[in-house]
Amino acid sequence: MPEPVAADGGVVAAAPGRGAPLVDTHGRIHRDLRISLTDRCSLRCTYCMPEQGNEWLAKTSILTLDEIVRIAGIAAADGITTFRLTGGEPLLRTDIVEVVRRLSRITGPDGRPVEIAMTTNGIRLRELLPALADAGLSRLNISIDTLRRDRFRELTRRDRLDDVLDGIAAAAASDLRPVKLNAVAMRDVNVDEIVELVEFAIAHDAQMRFIEQMPLDAGHTWDRSRMVTQDEILEVLARRWTLTPVPGRGGAPAARWVLDGGPHTVGVIASVTAPFCGDCDRLRLTADGQLRNCLFSTTEYDLLPILRQTPSVIEAVDGDIDRMLRSCVRGKLPGHAINDPSFLQPARGMNAIGG
Ligand code: SF4
Repeated sequence: MPEPVAADGGVVAAAPGRGAPLVDTHGRIHRDLRISLTDRCSLRCTYCMPEQGNEWLAKTSILTLDEIVRIAGIAAADGITTFRLTGGEPLLRTDIVEVVRRLSRITGPDGRPVEIAMTTNGIRLRELLPALADAGLSRLNISIDTLRRDRFRELTRRDRLDDVLDGIAAAAASDLRPVKLNAVAMRDVNVDEIVELVEFAIAHDAQMRFIEQMPLDAGHTWDRSRMVTQDEILEVLARRWTLTPVPGRGGAPAARWVLDGGPHTVGVIASVTAPFCGDCDRLRLTADGQLRNCLFSTTEYDLLPILRQTPSVIEAVDGDIDRMLRSCVRGKLPGHAINDPSFLQPARGMNAIGG
């Protein structure tokens, strides 16, 4: 069997045994695998995708359900405890309920089931949530950048705000908790809605989280001097609420603050001005079978040739997948270097990486 190779052509070095934790060279143990199920989306958010002319992944390269479950099972045996399903928009995948059902049956080395979370734009949620919950979905993050219809239409290039609000209402009425609502904070777009969005989240028993905009847009138009920073977001929030930091963040991307003594909280994901890479425990699997060790990685580790080689011997293939996971983790850099002048934006757009 040929040696697995990284997408940049380098041969992947042999790695020690299956079932050992996925620890990188900086001591970070990886427990979170983000699985992108498709690069397609029902919206066209300006900070993510172009309106037209997007180069979609080839259909033949999209991982099948069996392939996803196979990779996930090996990752869980190596200590991954959470699978977060992303896209594009994961609910566009026609077998989404079956994906959740099969993944939720996977257990870790301690016999405990993995946790299945999902990041969605919410558009098909009302229709699918009962089946997803029944299949084993445990947590939901829903993106909502604005509550104003005209802005939503302009930002997403689609008139679907009512569908998103319906999805959020369905999540609020369900037993899934916590429900998190995500907004990318954008100057001249939604900064004046920061307080309104938090009040909306509280009314839906959800936690609002604001995300600093990152250089992942398809048009490469990100401008650091124009982004809305964590400090600016907190300044707006502090005019309305007393903010008390929540300790013990661990590997979570959002720093949180309690509002007026509780019980509600707000989160900020400050990837640019306050990076949390030192505690990062995340790996990513793209819809076309590429392992990535960072949102901003420019190297990918291609699992497709391993999965689709013929003839294949199950044990040998599983061993190669495991080695590729370990090589991917070992190749992880200490951080994203967005603030470094030599920073290079990854060639893949956000929709093809997974959030
Ligand atoms: S930028 Fe990369 S290393 Fe840093 S937290 Fe995000 S995924 Fe992890």
